Amino acid sequence: MTTRDKLETLAANLWWTWNPEARDLFRRLNPDAFHQAKNAPLPALRQADPTLFDDERFAEDVSAVYETFQAYMDAPGAHPDAPRTAYFCMEYGLHESMPTYSGGLGVLAGDHTKATSDLGLPFVAIGLFLKNGYFQQSFDEHGHQRDTHTGLNPADHPLRLVTDDDGAPVTATVHLGDQPLALKAWRLDVGRTPLYLLDADLDENPAELRTLTHNLYQGGNHIRLQQEIVLGIGGMRLMRALDLDADVYHLNEGHCAFLTLELLREQLDDGVPPEAAERWVQEHCVFTTHTPVPAGHDRFNPDRTLGQMTTFRQQLGLSERDFMAFGRVDPNDEHESFTMTVLGLKMSRAANGVSRLNGEVARDQWKALYPDRPVDEVPIGHITNGIHLPTWTAPHARAFLEQRLGDWLAQRQDPDFWEQGLADIPDADLWQYRSTLRGFLLDFVADYVARQTLPQTVDLDPEALTIGFARRFATYKRAPLIFSDVERAERLFSNADRPVQLLYAGKAHPEDEGGKGFIRRIYEMSQRPAFKGKVIFLENYNMEIGRMLVSGCDVWLNNPRRPMEASGTSGQKIAAHGGLNVSILDGWWPEGYDGTNGWTIGDGTVYADKAQQDAVDAQALYDVLENEVIPTFYDHDPEGLPRGWISRMRRAMQSLPAEFSAVRMVSDYIAEMYTAPATV
Ligand SMILES: *Cc1c(COP(=O)(O)O)cnc(C)c1O
Repeated sequence: MTTRDKLETLAANLWWTWNPEARDLFRRLNPDAFHQAKNAPLPALRQADPTLFDDERFAEDVSAVYETFQAYMDAPGAHPDAPRTAYFCMEYGLHESMPTYSGGLGVLAGDHTKATSDLGLPFVAIGLFLKNGYFQQSFDEHGHQRDTHTGLNPADHPLRLVTDDDGAPVTATVHLGDQPLALKAWRLDVGRTPLYLLDADLDENPAELRTLTHNLYQGGNHIRLQQEIVLGIGGMRLMRALDLDADVYHLNEGHCAFLTLELLREQLDDGVPPEAAERWVQEHCVFTTHTPVPAGHDRFNPDRTLGQMTTFRQQLGLSERDFMAFGRVDPNDEHESFTMTVLGLKMSRAANGVSRLNGEVARDQWKALYPDRPVDEVPIGHITNGIHLPTWTAPHARAFLEQRLGDWLAQRQDPDFWEQGLADIPDADLWQYRSTLRGFLLDFVADYVARQTLPQTVDLDPEALTIGFARRFATYKRAPLIFSDVERAERLFSNADRPVQLLYAGKAHPEDEGGKGFIRRIYEMSQRPAFKGKVIFLENYNMEIGRMLVSGCDVWLNNPRRPMEASGTSGQKIAAHGGLNVSILDGWWPEGYDGTNGWTIGDGTVYADKAQQDAVDAQALYDVLENEVIPTFYDHDPEGLPRGWISRMRRAMQSLPAEFSAVRMVSDYIAEMYTAPATV
């Protein structure tokens, strides 16, 4: 095999997204092309410096990475008896070069998929071919967010059109109303796990429907319903066209829940009586809900639902009322909309929220569906989210952990391994580790901000306490909470002996005026003398900016309005880097926080009045920063080491990465959700 063949094999599998040695090879091929393509390998490979292929050293490096890849692909699976699982999700966050995600849900689905590959599970993932993806964020001269789209060119990504033996696209057909819509699919190999993405862009489809799957969360409720028909029903039909079967179907959030009705149709077609058919579907489906607010669930009014479902409903042989009943809390209420979460709950054998607190909230939210049960017996449990450590751990951190702990990735889900491995690393070395990672981040920020459209002054201090806040700018996350009392915030940032700097990134949904207003507020703050150069907004948040921020920040700030944060995962990404969470007791943090490994903002009290909640939480945020975080960071001993801070770093690194890793999460899904309870 030639060096070029090996590189082509490596580029064709997203394994490179979590293996920095592979990414380095592609960067060496053509650093500019690699950078231009947002770190995607294929353009660099096409425009490679030809002399490199005569370089023996390069050939050896390629061979070494290639062998690591082959060994990964051939390794035995960790759960030989795991059931065959099909996983459906609206969005997947796999790498910054493919903007097919808007935030935490997509990144979680990407991390879940990668972890199933690491574990060698019999697993297939299904999604939409979001050619335009989520929007790219830039700014006009007044600091107003602009949204643009850059279409994915399949040739620049390891996307393969799924074809039959004659080279013709494999297709599946769904109906929107009585209009047939043909779908083709693209395949992405995520290590050992295939991901199929459905695409309506075929000549035989009406022009206005050919772009149906191209945009994520844009275009209104009607488009959303049509996309969900494609994802759920089209996804099932694609699986059949590919001769794929599964023992369990995992509905990750309600968007894909129509797949349960397609399974029902298959059973009825096979002549199974209706009740038994419904039971069969329930026995083969599991459902994860992520949305603690009623308004966040997809709902479609009866006219719209029945209009889009005419042919499909006839195929099912159901009356309008019986069809609508699957998505209604009260089947007798003719005005009730069709709610995807209700469908998911009714048609699954098990359901879960994504943190302990979120499970509680979900049980309360859906108790009306289970009128015979007390709220704590509502059948919704929880599996707390975790992150794919190889994706989120910076190259420098990986090298450090490798050197100090040994084969940390192989033992990443073992809490004792972290506990013991971290115990005897000297304080000075941990502090050096933190300072090095912070330094890399600050270099990245200076370089990045110089090229962005939003003008920002950079005056960062490599030794200053560096706080990060990066996530979607949904208003419940309250990005500008720290500016609630501007004078108090100014005092915080104006102490020359204890400098503080704050890095922001995040997109607001184009229709979310509140979220866009939050970005403008931060932009205005960044122009004030007290904050200039120290409060910086990085535009066009993506997984690369995320990776840099979570590796370099000393503190990760998270101040959502409790209990709106279903889990949150970005705070989990900082732990292996020795970063510390300063967070409201929401999402995963009540399970992660143990009094020694970070801080909480307030005590988790929930007020009915939002304004009061915001005021109390802002007060608590200032208090913890002024009294705990900043003094601890700057309390250096005669050797120049902040011992109290380092002790918290060590505790965070010991206590969090194992429990909040995607391998632990997927193992929990296998044990608690995918493996069917034994039938008696
Ligand atoms: C991890 C991550 C998220 C999730 O952030 P949370 O607010 O903590 O849920 C969103 N976007 C990107 C790019 C991420 O990497």
